[in-house]
Amino acid sequence: MTRTIALIGYPLRHSVSPSFQQAAFDHFRLDTRYEMWEVQPEDLEATVDGLRRPAMAGANVTIPYKERMMGLLDSIDEKAASIGSVNTIVVRDGRLDGYNTDAGGFIRALRQDAGFDPLRRTALILGAGGAARAVVFALLNEGARSVSIANRTEGRAAELAAAAGRGFPASEVVTLPWTRLSRDVLSGCDLVVNCTSVGMKHTALEGRTPLRADLIPERALVCDLVYNPVETPLLAAARKAGAKTLGGLPMLVYQGAASFELWTAKEAPLEVMFRSASEALGR
Ligand code: NAP
Repeated sequence: MTRTIALIGYPLRHSVSPSFQQAAFDHFRLDTRYEMWEVQPEDLEATVDGLRRPAMAGANVTIPYKERMMGLLDSIDEKAASIGSVNTIVVRDGRLDGYNTDAGGFIRALRQDAGFDPLRRTALILGAGGAARAVVFALLNEGARSVSIANRTEGRAAELAAAAGRGFPASEVVTLPWTRLSRDVLSGCDLVVNCTSVGMKHTALEGRTPLRADLIPERALVCDLVYNPVETPLLAAARKAGAKTLGGLPMLVYQGAASFELWTAKEAPLEVMFRSASEALGR
């Protein structure tokens, strides 16, 4: 029987996960299809229930459902529970088990692709959605000294900061006002991470940046989780300002590789996945 893995989110036009996950399944000649399921909010519960069918092996979860998914599964692994968001579901005998591979994927990209060690560093996180939760948790877990969170909806940033502060009392976790970020505050940052969807291709936010160019700290590493386009307006401005940059592609492939390993118990073919993702992004 052909097994199916679904990508659940909305919108999905920007996604290259189907390309590189299918390439990984094909590499091992597995009879598995990775399908894109664009799901409206009112259909999410019924869609998740549909994962219990025998042909389903699992799913990835993306914008905007990573947090909502927490309440729809049979079990949540410890890391995903402390982060508060799920991006991977494994179906086992009709049971739905939730995991988070974003946090590990982000740290792997930071270390391997940007040579950045979060220990005792100061970070500014833009955004407070599912991806931001994973990034904040991951940085604090790796010993970051201070994490500031700025989000358009400030209550959401406050909620994330409170949860992260409870989990990591030895670190400083604060919120900053989204519309009043200052050069003073930013110049103290070692790392700036865009965890919003601002800049994402094929959406109304394409071509936009979440941070004014004159606020970019030139001594920092500026990281954009948005991977399509490969060079976002934020990364282009950061490069121009003289800052180091890291795009979203390495994290995308590492989190996807960890999902692949959960579904198949096989070591993910990273090279195949990177090649396929890059091709899908037209690089
Ligand atoms: P999400 O839970 O829907 O959160 C979206 C975030 O973007 C929220 O903070 C939201 O702010 C903010 N936002 C949306 N529109 C905005 C606007 N017009 N102005 C300012 N802020 C805006 O989504 P997510 O799962 O966290 O994903 C966020 C981004 O990260 C997406 O682009 C996704 O593709 C990317 N991502 C990449 C990877 C990777 O591996 N590279 C992994 C995960 C996610 P509000 O709270 O105010 O709505």
